Amino acid sequence: MLFEHQDLLALTLAHPQPRRQPQSRTLADGTRLTLIDTGILAIEPARPGDSDIVLSCGVHGNETAPIELVNDLVNAILDGSLKCRQRLLVQLGNTQAMVDGTRGILENMNRLFSGAHAQGEPNDEKRRAARLEQTVRAFFQQPGRKRFHYDLHTAIRDSQREKFAVYPYRPGRPWSIEQIRFLAGCGVKTILLSHSPTTTYSYFSSNEFGADAFTVELGKVYPFGHNDMSRFEACRAQLARLIAAEPLDYPPLAQSVVYDVCQVVNKHHEEFQFTFADDQANFTEFAPGHLLANDGEREVRVGEVAESIIFPNANVAIGQRALLTVVPTEIDDRFE
Ligand SMILES: [Zn+2]
Repeated sequence: MLFEHQDLLALTLAHPQPRRQPQSRTLADGTRLTLIDTGILAIEPARPGDSDIVLSCGVHGNETAPIELVNDLVNAILDGSLKCRQRLLVQLGNTQAMVDGTRGILENMNRLFSGAHAQGEPNDEKRRAARLEQTVRAFFQQPGRKRFHYDLHTAIRDSQREKFAVYPYRPGRPWSIEQIRFLAGCGVKTILLSHSPTTTYSYFSSNEFGADAFTVELGKVYPFGHNDMSRFEACRAQLARLIAAEPLDYPPLAQSVVYDVCQVVNKHHEEFQFTFADDQANFTEFAPGHLLANDGEREVRVGEVAESIIFPNANVAIGQRALLTVVPTEIDDRFE
């Protein structure tokens, strides 16, 4: 019987390679669990509510806390302590990297979506990204339902704001105040508004299926078993309420801080250097005009208002994003 001896995480770590056959199990209350492929589990109640929810984690294999959090929710559904009342798709993303304890094997998997996996030489991570997309596409095929996708991560570096979420570019759709407050209820009170298409997983679900989708950063990376799970309790509890179709925690909007993504700095030259330390914390603010990086001959500077840095990484491949900068913004008529 599925999950009789090993839970989702243990089974995935023991068998990270693709599975040939789906495997399923029905719980006493009629909830059907289908292990579609390794680390990809659909949970469908007999009479689901109005929402289709995707929870993904481990797209970066060493980001263990969200993996443990999601696995914990699945175990609660299995032992009956959490009633699943919505359609739910759980994905542990980069399974081989999870086994190896690395962010990725050859790839940054969170740059392989919206078809980017089809570019260049094929490899296992590109095949996996395509498989993740394919199962999300199949999961979101029923029209007229609410769609959510929370892609859960932890960051490599310290952050002056421990938890934050990137809200993917959604042209023609207002930013959702309800979603910003929902995330505050997860303990995620800093939101970054993205203003350009990208190849992240959350943008894929937002753009192709109109889902309310976010890349959610829940804190700093630690190995399996070394996470202080109390730091994730608000998130776990809110996701459990969402899954169980129970009333959600919506803190006042004033608790959230919203930033606009200002610069997306792609690396163009091998000689790329930041002017700040390698371990500079996310959300460190720099004054107008400050030199942030040298990209070959090109200087990357702060514009006319102070900007804060996010995700600096000088070691990315040429053409990939080395840095984001953000500026605080107001909740205005772009929000609804
Ligand atoms: Zn990540």
